[in-house]
Amino acid sequence: MRISYSAYDTYKKCPLKYKFSYIDKISAPKRPELFFGGLIHSVVQYALKKDPLMPSYEELIKFYEENWESSLYKDKDQEKQYFDFGKNMIFHFHGTHKPGLRDIIATEKYFAIPLSEKHQLSGVIDRVDKLPIGAIEIIDYKTNKSLPTQQDIDNDFQMNFYQLAVKSLWPEIDKVKLTFYFLKPNVQMSTTRDDYAIDMAKKEIIATADTITSQKDFCATPNRFCDWCDFQNRCPAFADLKTSDDRESKIIEKFLAAKKAIDVLEPEINKIMNKSGKDVLKSGQIRIYRDKENDNKLSIRD
Ligand code: SF4
Repeated sequence: MRISYSAYDTYKKCPLKYKFSYIDKISAPKRPELFFGGLIHSVVQYALKKDPLMPSYEELIKFYEENWESSLYKDKDQEKQYFDFGKNMIFHFHGTHKPGLRDIIATEKYFAIPLSEKHQLSGVIDRVDKLPIGAIEIIDYKTNKSLPTQQDIDNDFQMNFYQLAVKSLWPEIDKVKLTFYFLKPNVQMSTTRDDYAIDMAKKEIIATADTITSQKDFCATPNRFCDWCDFQNRCPAFADLKTSDDRESKIIEKFLAAKKAIDVLEPEINKIMNKSGKDVLKSGQIRIYRDKENDNKLSIRD
C-alpha cells in the first residue's frame, strides 16, 4: 500500500475514519480552517517559486484575495477573523523571507518512495533547502495558533516521513535539519533525527501498513477529535444521537462528567508535578504540561 503521514495519523486516531477517508474515499465537505491553511500554504509557495525574486506584499495579498472563498465561512465576522489572521501571517512572512539567500532546491516536493517490498511512503514536503555545510533542511509551514514545545518538535512523527523521503531522494546527503515554520508567530523550530530513531519510525510505519492491509474490521475509536470528524453521521459510536437535541444533551452530560473528573484529577497531577519537579507528565504519546502562556494551567498534547 501507499501510506502518507496523514493516512498513518488518521488510522492511529481512528481506524473507521481511515476507512471512510482512504478506502471508501467518501469526500468530506470543505472546512473553513482546512481551506484557510491550504490557501496560506499556496501563498507561501507562490512566493518561494519566484525565488530569488520576491513578490511584493501587495502581490501576495492580491493572490490571497483572488483565491479566497467567502462562501465557506458561517458569517461575515468569522470570514473577517480568518482573513485578517491570514493577512497578518503573510505580512510577517514577507518581512522575514530573504529571497536569494538560501539555496532552495525544491518546493512542494511530491515523493512516493519504496518503504518495504509491499509498501510505499508518500507525501509532499513544503520546502527543501541545501545548506552551505552540505546538509539539507526540510521546512514544513504551519498555520497553528499556538506554538508547541521543543519536546513536541523532537517527538513529532511527521518529520520521520520527510527524513525517510530525503534519504531516498538525496542519498548522498547525510545531515538533515528538520524545521517547522510557524507562520502566525513567525517562529522557526528545528530538530534532528538520528539513524536509530529513523529506523524505529520506519519499522513502526511498516507495521502499521501491514495491519491496515490485513485488517477486516475497522472499528470506530472515539477520541477527542470526534467533534471535528466529517463522518459522525455515519459513525456507529454516534448512532444513538439522532437529533441535535440528543446530541446536545449527550455532550452536556459528557462535559459535566469530564469536568467532575478534572476537578478531582487536576490537584493530583499538580501534586505529582510539584513533588517530582517536572513540568511535563507523559503516558505513551499523550503529554500533560504546564502552559506557561496560559497562567501555568494544565494542557494536553499528543
Ligand atoms: S466520529 Fe470519532 S469514532 Fe466516529 S469515525 Fe469519526 S473519529 Fe472515528
